[in-house]
Amino acid sequence: MKSHVKAVVIGGGVVGCSVLYHLARAGWTDVMLIERSELTSGSSWHAAGGFHTLNGDPNVAKLQAYTVQLYKELEELSGQSCSLHLTGGVMLADTSERMDFLRLAHAKGRYLGMDTELITPSEAKAMFPLMDETNFVGAMWDPVEGHLDPSGTTHAYAKAARKLGAEIVLRNRVVELTQEVDGTWNVVTEQGTVKAEHVVNCGGLWAREVGRMVGAELPLLAMEHMYLLTEPMPEVEAFNRETGREMVGVLDFKGEIYTRQERNGVLLGTYEKACKPWSPVETPWNFGHELLQPDIERIAPSLEVGFRHFPGIEKAGIKQIINGPFTFAPDGNPLVGPVQGLTNFWCACAVMAGFSQGGGVGLALSNWMVSGDPGFDVWGMDVARFGEWASLRYTNAKVRENYSRRFSIRFPNEELPAARPAQTTPLYDTMIAQNAVMGDSWGLETPLWFAPKGTEPKDKVSFRRSNDFEHVGNEVRATRERVGVTEIANFAKYEVSGQGAEEFLNRLMTNRMPKVGRIVLTPMLNERGKLIGDFTIARAGSEAFMIWGSSAAQKYHMRWFEKHLPKDGSVRIHRFDQTLVGLSIAGPKSRALLQKLVDVDVSSSAFRFMDFREMAVGGAPCMVNRITYTGDLGYEIWMQPAYQRLVYRAIKEAGEEFGIVDFGMRALLSMRLEKNFPTWFRELRPIYGPFEGAMDRFIKLEKNDFIGREAAAAEGAEGAKLRRVSLVVDALDADVMGDEPIWARVGNKEYGTVEKPHGYGAPRFDASGKEARGSTAATGASAVRGITDGEWRVVGWVTSGGYAHYVQKSMAQGYVPAALADNESEGLFEIEILGERRPARVNIEPSFDPDGGKMRG
Ligand SMILES: Cc1cc2nc3c(=O)[nH]c(=O)nc-3n(C[C@H](O)[C@H](O)[C@H](O)COP(=O)(O)OP(=O)(O)OC[C@H]3O[C@@H](n4cnc5c(N)ncnc54)[C@H](O)[C@@H]3O)c2cc1C
Repeated sequence: MKSHVKAVVIGGGVVGCSVLYHLARAGWTDVMLIERSELTSGSSWHAAGGFHTLNGDPNVAKLQAYTVQLYKELEELSGQSCSLHLTGGVMLADTSERMDFLRLAHAKGRYLGMDTELITPSEAKAMFPLMDETNFVGAMWDPVEGHLDPSGTTHAYAKAARKLGAEIVLRNRVVELTQEVDGTWNVVTEQGTVKAEHVVNCGGLWAREVGRMVGAELPLLAMEHMYLLTEPMPEVEAFNRETGREMVGVLDFKGEIYTRQERNGVLLGTYEKACKPWSPVETPWNFGHELLQPDIERIAPSLEVGFRHFPGIEKAGIKQIINGPFTFAPDGNPLVGPVQGLTNFWCACAVMAGFSQGGGVGLALSNWMVSGDPGFDVWGMDVARFGEWASLRYTNAKVRENYSRRFSIRFPNEELPAARPAQTTPLYDTMIAQNAVMGDSWGLETPLWFAPKGTEPKDKVSFRRSNDFEHVGNEVRATRERVGVTEIANFAKYEVSGQGAEEFLNRLMTNRMPKVGRIVLTPMLNERGKLIGDFTIARAGSEAFMIWGSSAAQKYHMRWFEKHLPKDGSVRIHRFDQTLVGLSIAGPKSRALLQKLVDVDVSSSAFRFMDFREMAVGGAPCMVNRITYTGDLGYEIWMQPAYQRLVYRAIKEAGEEFGIVDFGMRALLSMRLEKNFPTWFRELRPIYGPFEGAMDRFIKLEKNDFIGREAAAAEGAEGAKLRRVSLVVDALDADVMGDEPIWARVGNKEYGTVEKPHGYGAPRFDASGKEARGSTAATGASAVRGITDGEWRVVGWVTSGGYAHYVQKSMAQGYVPAALADNESEGLFEIEILGERRPARVNIEPSFDPDGGKMRG
């Protein structure tokens, strides 16, 4: 065992081996994997080995597609077979809502270049004859699904990594991690200490314990998971004989089950409602290559549905039931990246689908470690997406919720109840008493909309407009015509202060820093010139700046700030989180309202648009910004939590004469749409450049050498390829949700914006068992079916949207080729909503207050 290496990877499961391989492939060959026992000694050895590309987050779906593509390369490199069975798979819908969900997934897949297809239950049965098709209304076929040998695959990664020079040390537990002043890690193992610049936690079932070695409580939990294997089945053998093919994989939403052929029988796994955490507080170090006791009672309700939907399986004898633990994060996606507050400590854990995601996780993490950037938009699996509120008990409740609804539909207006409320503001009880429907905003209860008195404050979950539509509309109209108040505690707030504060912010931000008492809006870029933040910055004093940003990105942004903080102590950063809360008032009467609450002049000349002041509001010390996300005349008022009730009560009492209303986040988001304002993590993400994101006026290339300047200048000089646009959609009863494809009538003109992530697809068969139209060979390039249609082709995608209530238009924002972005013609665009293509038109000027007269007045 070497005594010094560039990086130590802890854990030899599929994820650790993938990380090791990718690091070595990226040129870091001085790397070592340390495994407590043998390779695959955690979850990896007893996995069912299934893989697929579909994921609710298209960026994670891309990395899954990469993983699947990688296996061929890996087999060639390592000489080790992964026993790849690229069978393809079907997802079965038993209700019209589930079919809507499949239409949505299919449409999303179009802009990713995925080769999915909507099919009938009989077509599905032709591929999986054990099902009773009368239970289903439709299905979706995905050619890039299948299964493999988990152990062979893990060893293939390991062999490939060794060939590139990486070292693997077995039967050697890491027992302690300490860090020297210069940042070097001491990786203390049973066989001695290794010094390393970087440490990666790929501890799988023990990732939590490895995290605790450095004081990090990672939000992950292992769950028991069962699948059964049947005796050989004559139906399966007959199918294989007659078609010369293996049966496809099947996912049954209703039963929360998956099933597929395994040898001459089938394998059937369940995500049962009565799910059970395993070792909820601490994983024993002496847990070895063991299985857990099967508990058939627990999965009986799932099996009942399974046997009804797949009667053939019920008749078969059960050969074996496997019960093994594997880990989940609260939202089911992995935890990847550098841990905020630590240097060079990385994690790649809570990977619940290691054989779909392991390759993508390894690639993203190795890019990140070697070049400082993951190279993709990995927000969906970034370890920074969880805050301090994601405690052991929170994680336990959320993981159980997530597991028991693993294949359930999450509607766009659906808020999940587990582990709530976590954080509340002092106004929580008041909002509940006012019939607010609350939502979870990065662990904080936030009013979404207000239900009329006497009705139940609850969303009817749907893909279409729902019971909030009328009431959100009323909140918007009352605000736009009179005045409204809303809670904005769910924004991120920071203070940056000290002698070096201005220089520090100038280095990080693309816009110039404001004068004392003024505000600027500014994006933040990474070295590649991509958008990694969008902030409102006010100068509170010569060496003090207040910063507001996206709540969900607090740890993500703190990690970046800390990374770039000067070492000389000249800059201090404070994250307020919920020690600073806020209220926003907006609408034409908001100035008159504010004037009643303060003892200073807030007339338009004394308190101008984009001004910042400290003043007492309703007697409470506050900071006030003359700016709101509604795009109307309005103010953001910030105070310590102890004053929030006082200020709110004062606002409501003084606002009575103006007919003040409460409005929630949904009304706020509706109002920003009619102003063409973007949102962070939807329109603005690390895959877009600032000019693509239409942030031109905030990019001051001449100001100084800020991070990402060179790349941004190149993007500006070459001209952005894509452009963010606002569109008015001729929608029916459903508005866009995000990720829908944008079609354009452009004939054969090439814009090259549709990326196609798959290298190969699998064959599918029609009802007669013959290979069907458009089918692709197992190793050939797949035809991108469905993204062209006569004159029409998919040219872009929607990032977000909804109904803009004041201007009464269904609106969307999204990215299209820059060459089409200024074309407001009717008939040029269509957006696919729930499988139906609806006409859409680019809308350059905001529909509400296009010249900003109301907002600036
Ligand atoms: C029954 C079942 C079915 C499944 N089916 C599928 C499926 O069909 N498809 C799919 O993609 N996934 C499936 N999974 C999930 C899959 O197994 C996991 O996603 C995957 O194994 C996670 O791999 P890992 O490398 O993160 O963790 P693990 O496999 O748990 O590996 C972690 C390794 O780290 C080592 N380690 C930990 N701490 C230390 C330390 N301090 N020092 C040294 N070594 C240490 C452990 O010994 C272990 O070998 C299934 C899981 C189960 C239980």
